[in-house]
Amino acid sequence: MTIRVDAPALAARAASVGPSAVREILALTARPEVISFAGGLPAPELFDVAGLRAAYDRVLAERPRQVLQYSTTEGDPELRAAIAARFTGRGLATTPDDLVVTTGSQQGLGLLATALLEPGDVVLVEDPSYLAALQCFRFAGARVLPVPCDEHGVDPVALAELVRRERPKLLYLVPNFQNPTGRTLPAARRQAIAEVAERDGLWIVEDDPYGELRYSGEPQPWISSFPEAADRTVLLGSFSKVMAPGMRLGWLRAPAALRRACVIAKQAADLHTSTVDQAAAARYLADNDLAAHLARITGAYRERRDALLAGLPAALPTGSEWNRPDGGMFLWVRLPAGHDAGELLRAAVAQDVAYVPGAPFFAGPADPGALRMSFTTHTPAEIGEGLRRLAKIF
Ligand code: PMP
Repeated sequence: MTIRVDAPALAARAASVGPSAVREILALTARPEVISFAGGLPAPELFDVAGLRAAYDRVLAERPRQVLQYSTTEGDPELRAAIAARFTGRGLATTPDDLVVTTGSQQGLGLLATALLEPGDVVLVEDPSYLAALQCFRFAGARVLPVPCDEHGVDPVALAELVRRERPKLLYLVPNFQNPTGRTLPAARRQAIAEVAERDGLWIVEDDPYGELRYSGEPQPWISSFPEAADRTVLLGSFSKVMAPGMRLGWLRAPAALRRACVIAKQAADLHTSTVDQAAAARYLADNDLAAHLARITGAYRERRDALLAGLPAALPTGSEWNRPDGGMFLWVRLPAGHDAGELLRAAVAQDVAYVPGAPFFAGPADPGALRMSFTTHTPAEIGEGLRRLAKIF
């Protein structure tokens, strides 16, 4: 008889990630009859399929041996030049060498965690914050602490106090149309946060996947553009929301020493981002007018946001509060005291409508009445019907 000894246990960080009750309920929302405000997906009917297909065809026809081959960790030079030119054109002077192409901006978060965080380091986040960023920092062993926020985002005075007390290594922000709240950090607060980072020594991770999806109001300057914090701010970006998330293309714009550390971390993670996808994206940008495509997407999303805003007063219980995001994909609702968004989700799904309860997005104590609604993947008519279903359960 062979003696069998159990294989060693999973790492504590892997074992600590339990199954989520919400995930199980949301798995039920894949049914076609469900109108879902839960997902965070771009509208697939707005992908420029013809343009992207032509770009892939061209690079595979013209340079197959190159675009199917291994390539450099930093990324396709033409793609980096195109991304740099877009930044420079929007007022943030950038060279191709300032950039590393990443496998989605999600990989940028992972690379930064590897390059910057020791177990026990403190990471400050908005409250609530992007769930997969919380996960990424926790996986790295960081102590993730919430910064007090209001409807405009981080309170710079509270931030300064917390920085002095906790000596954090980095502050993670989604300044434009935040996930999950949809809120935008005003320019004056960006300036004040850059000054805190300068005065007290702090890395800022400025995650900006939604900034180009603006439907109203004026663009706010990147934190990376303030000279006070230029040497300690990392800007993450992505083609997921403006081109197609399945291509998994993002970028990281970082000061030289940190960028080099991220390149080494990326070598260990995946050697490089897909050569053919990068080449096709560069070809797409050269052959098409991304601004015109963006105008089409933002036009449709603006109508969808407005349909959701128009229907909310009749759908939600009296005393509910919600915001009016100037862009992005989400808005944030707070049901009045006594309502639990997690418990109500089950009833909602039974009525073929869904949203995401807000609780998991909080790094501090959760507001059980909070929920996130996405408005991008349904037409205004479907949004209206979804809200009528929600009204029944609320
Ligand atoms: N950051 C934020 C704030 C996001 O909402 C998302 C996507 N949901 C990402 C990063 C990751 O995007 P991607 O990896 O597709 O670029």
